[in-house]
Amino acid sequence: MSTPVLEISRGAFRANLAAVRARLGESQLMLVMKDDAYGHGIDWAVSEAEAAGVSWFGGYDIPTALRIRALTSQRVYAWATSSASEVEAAIRAGIELGIGSTAYLAAVIARAELLGIRTALHLKIDTGLHRNGFRPEDWAAAVGIARAAEERGSVRIAGVWSHLAEASDEEDDAAQAVFLEAVRHLEAVGGTPEALHLTASAAAWWRPELRGTLSRIGAFCYGIRSADGPVLDGLSLISRLVATVDAVEGDTVRVGLGAFHGLPSVLQGAEVATPGGLRRIVRIDGDATTVAAWPGARIGDRVIVFGPGDDGESDATALAERMDTVGEEILTRLTPAVSRLLGP
Ligand SMILES: *Cc1c(COP(=O)(O)O)cnc(C)c1O
Repeated sequence: MSTPVLEISRGAFRANLAAVRARLGESQLMLVMKDDAYGHGIDWAVSEAEAAGVSWFGGYDIPTALRIRALTSQRVYAWATSSASEVEAAIRAGIELGIGSTAYLAAVIARAELLGIRTALHLKIDTGLHRNGFRPEDWAAAVGIARAAEERGSVRIAGVWSHLAEASDEEDDAAQAVFLEAVRHLEAVGGTPEALHLTASAAAWWRPELRGTLSRIGAFCYGIRSADGPVLDGLSLISRLVATVDAVEGDTVRVGLGAFHGLPSVLQGAEVATPGGLRRIVRIDGDATTVAAWPGARIGDRVIVFGPGDDGESDATALAERMDTVGEEILTRLTPAVSRLLGP
């Protein structure tokens, strides 16, 4: 049985990075690489991005940030609340830490002092998403603790950040107001945060007025468009999921890609690109998928499940929309049983 392949285009990634950076203007790009660079693999992507001039990398958790650090000396950021041993490794590696709770703030300061390594912190204000972050009513106290540690030389308050819901412009505007108020307070008590970051892909692209000095962008750098969002000028999906025909059975074919590879079985009914044009997925089994045949279908034919192909575009987000999720989930669900093939 054949193995499915995720064909990755380095050139498309470089083009996306250039388009995103052009769009961001003054705001710097932090390339977000969680979930193994949205399923594409961190290692090559760090080198490629660094060569393209990207100077900030976001790892979400510390193990990911450490993998990035092993590949680059640029700034690396991790924002998942982490264990003491991970925090120690991060501090030693010069990873900057996102902090959204008093307990974690105290733990990071204590560890930085123990190690005698001045550590860069980014304080998170909860601007309404209620997903970690200091509530506005707790901000002054958190800032007080962080500023005292900064005065002692233990840490540096390098940034203030938050995450937007991106559900409506009104909510995002209100979140920005809370964010800017938090920055004002920090500055009023002597803080000098240089990295102000609030926006991810969609808001950074569409709402320039919300951008801070830094934008944390994942999806659009990999060319994954927003669910229910348009295909964006200058961005294209950097990968293509290809399965090979293993059997032709009358009016259907079987391809070597299934639920065990991470293809969600609810995608039955979706269209894939075949040498004979678009055809529907009839059934998804564990290790194979049945697709409606085309005239002249042969063993060895390539079927493109998503990504740029000869037969027009089917993208990961279009598949995700069928199951009410976001495009990155289609990619991050692909298991290591899918080979990654890195192309030019
Ligand atoms: C994943 C993530 C991002 C990147 O979001 P995209 O929509 O993929 O650009 C930014 N910030 C945080 C906190 C995230 O978790």
